[in-house]
Amino acid sequence: MAELTEPQRRTVEQLIGTQERPVVAADLVRRLRDRIERALADLELREAVWLTKERLRAHGRCGGLFQAQLAGEHARFAHTPTTAAGVLAHRAVEVDMTARSPLDPFEVASIAARRLVDREDPFAVHWAALGERGQEEALAEAARRLTLFRASFPPLRELRSALAPIPELRLRAEFLDARLVLSGQIDLVLGLPDADAPLRATRLALDLKTGAARPEHAADLRVYALLLALRFGVPPYRVATFYLEAGTWQAEDVDERVLQHAAERLVAAARDAAHLAAGGTPVLAPGPWCAWCPRVEVCPAADPEAVPGPVLGRAP
Ligand code: SF4
Repeated sequence: MAELTEPQRRTVEQLIGTQERPVVAADLVRRLRDRIERALADLELREAVWLTKERLRAHGRCGGLFQAQLAGEHARFAHTPTTAAGVLAHRAVEVDMTARSPLDPFEVASIAARRLVDREDPFAVHWAALGERGQEEALAEAARRLTLFRASFPPLRELRSALAPIPELRLRAEFLDARLVLSGQIDLVLGLPDADAPLRATRLALDLKTGAARPEHAADLRVYALLLALRFGVPPYRVATFYLEAGTWQAEDVDERVLQHAAERLVAAARDAAHLAAGGTPVLAPGPWCAWCPRVEVCPAADPEAVPGPVLGRAP
């Protein structure tokens, strides 16, 4: 491996880790899926229910917010400066690790922005509205985030064959003949499968964030662990949120208990979704999240302290 700086070495040694990866039981994922399907067997879902980490998070906060998300009550998605900066930075990381030759961060950010404009309508709308000056500022911010990423990770472009980085991995798991779907997109997955020991857990799933750690990040990561386990038949050995500004992370080693916890959260949300779809009343639990709830103006329980926020953007 190329010579590494101290922060890069810390990531390699302590986050990616150099220890032997665990081998999981051959029936682990089948048991997990069976438990989920058994717990949901009596549910009557006339229409397919789609759950994501955002919806699971809403479920944990307030039944009304969860119901609003399931019903698609949020206005058509449009980027806020925060969400646009997030997708641009993620795309820049992707461009950086797949480029044929080394590029400077601003160039990488420019390519990433062009690709997003071509492929994602909400981003194209946001980008056009920024104007030339706003676009330059956004590119500078993406270049800053990429620089922070490079400062913390070994050079992934050069280590593609060793670390098999997969950016923006979209995954979906279906249950009950696709009447329940769990989906998500993982910012970055590292790790080659072991051809000689396919049940060895060799993957690390990463969420890249700016800003500070939040308690819900750990629960989000468990959703990724469950999705990876169900899709690949082997869970990741570890999941982590990486905080770009500080170069620190919050990580959890994945074992059956972690997967079971994520499965129970999925089952609880699916059961409540079915209850609501059958005309049930949501249990309202006001809190700071009322600020981005589409029902905040009409809800009798809305937190009066919550300042209405940009409901069009993705809730934090
Ligand atoms: S306004 Fe607040 S309490 Fe009411 S449904 Fe929305 S999140 Fe729940």
